[in-house]
Amino acid sequence: MLPLWFDPTEILIGGQWRKTRETLPVENPSTGAEMAQISRGSASDIDEAVAAARAAVDGDWGQLSATERGRVLARMGALVLDNAEALAMIEALDVGKPLAQARADVVALARYLEFYGGAADKVMGETIPYLNGYTAYTLREPHGVTGHIVPWNYPMQIIGRSVGAALAMGNAAVLKPAEEASLTALAFARIAAEAGLPAGALNIVPGLGEEAGAALSAHPGINHLSFTGSVGVGQLIQAQAAANVVPVTLELGGKSPQIVFDDANLDRALPLLVNAGIQNAGQTCSAASRILVQRGRYDEVVARMAARYGALRVGPALSDLDLGPLISARQKQIVEGYLRLASDLTIAAQGQIHPDAPATGHYIAPTLIAGGSGAHRLAQEEIFGPAQLVIPFDTEEEAVAIANGTDYGLVAAIWSQDGPRTMRLARRLRAGQVFLNNYGAGGGVELPFGGTGKSGHGREKGFEALYGFSALKTVAAWHG
Ligand code: NAD
Repeated sequence: MLPLWFDPTEILIGGQWRKTRETLPVENPSTGAEMAQISRGSASDIDEAVAAARAAVDGDWGQLSATERGRVLARMGALVLDNAEALAMIEALDVGKPLAQARADVVALARYLEFYGGAADKVMGETIPYLNGYTAYTLREPHGVTGHIVPWNYPMQIIGRSVGAALAMGNAAVLKPAEEASLTALAFARIAAEAGLPAGALNIVPGLGEEAGAALSAHPGINHLSFTGSVGVGQLIQAQAAANVVPVTLELGGKSPQIVFDDANLDRALPLLVNAGIQNAGQTCSAASRILVQRGRYDEVVARMAARYGALRVGPALSDLDLGPLISARQKQIVEGYLRLASDLTIAAQGQIHPDAPATGHYIAPTLIAGGSGAHRLAQEEIFGPAQLVIPFDTEEEAVAIANGTDYGLVAAIWSQDGPRTMRLARRLRAGQVFLNNYGAGGGVELPFGGTGKSGHGREKGFEALYGFSALKTVAAWHG
């Protein structure tokens, strides 16, 4: 059933596929059954991967012009699309996401490669007016070896945005995918080689976070670290980056609000209010887990969202219903723990788990919770499951205070037909992205993305990522 055309127990170092001493089981979250084994990379595998990446930067890969790098990335994007159905199937089975979502993730991966392939030779320096007799200018150069540690929730998308941008700037990457979902990363590395990516430009070592991940983030040969995952691990990574004095991009969690004013166009807002909470079973860093609604429309919004929740169906990834299972039994336990905190609030509606969903899968009914204040634990902490809290507010001032009143600051949306108000609030909201009368904007490969506060720092996606994955050099020439 798993359409693998390669051995998933192999790792890629310097263009060579080889096995590690130990392996790890891969669970299918839709059934709870083991469906494959992957390698359990060690610190010495990471050592070799970093050395191979360094050799690539100093060798063939480092010699390519920006245009040639761009062409390789474009070929990788095209080959991803040629293999779209197999990749989508692997991602659906590995992560438990409905096939339609997995297919969208493949398209997003291809789109990142197209975007960064096209941008590779368009990153310019500047000339700087300086003293008489001098010409001064800036160059954008690769950092060298970049380390990429990615989570399990959107493996293909996150690899596309971080590895894609790093390669476009001429870095060589060492990728440590999540132990729960490494299969599409391995498939992607095969596709990259087939597309002509030189040996060592991309090295991949799956394994445990505390082993391969920790070895990668602590490695003195790494020149830039890109981490997407939880706040706690992000803090460890930042400490490692500090020890080696290297730049780090942290894409961490969120508690993103959508603010709905009395004058909102609800017909337009409703699908996005709900979908932004339940997509990928709520296991999305930018999930809109808080819906703040002005008092005049509060009951109506709760009722209309509840009607949508009541119609949501949960089932195995390949049944392609609205939601799949959560990634693991552990994640399900965490989410159930959060739902118990709703005992002083109102459960406005829940979706249905399909009767055919195996009892051994990690299914949870999407839950809409009404009431409470911005101070409630459910309004403060990231649930990372299919649950949204609908909170009432009266004034614009109060909406801003609730929206900004968490440790996070990733994404926010404002729904109002009062244009000046939306523009005014966009400036006041503490978030890396603000959407006015929309949310998520179709994935937004082109839109710089990242957080403030505990959501992290640094920007990925869009052109901005290329600045993060490069170092600026200033040249001042005296010529008299
Ligand atoms: P996690 O932090 O446990 O794991 C993420 C990655 O870090 C995995 O590859 C893991 O193996 C690795 N890791 C774990 N311990 C490590 C260590 N000690 N040293 C080095 N690497 C280590 O997070 P998760 O549970 O896989 O993902 C869920 C979290 O990720 C949520 O909080 C979510 O909000 C966040 N996330 C953020 C974004 C974003 O772009 N902001 C995107 C997706 C997920």
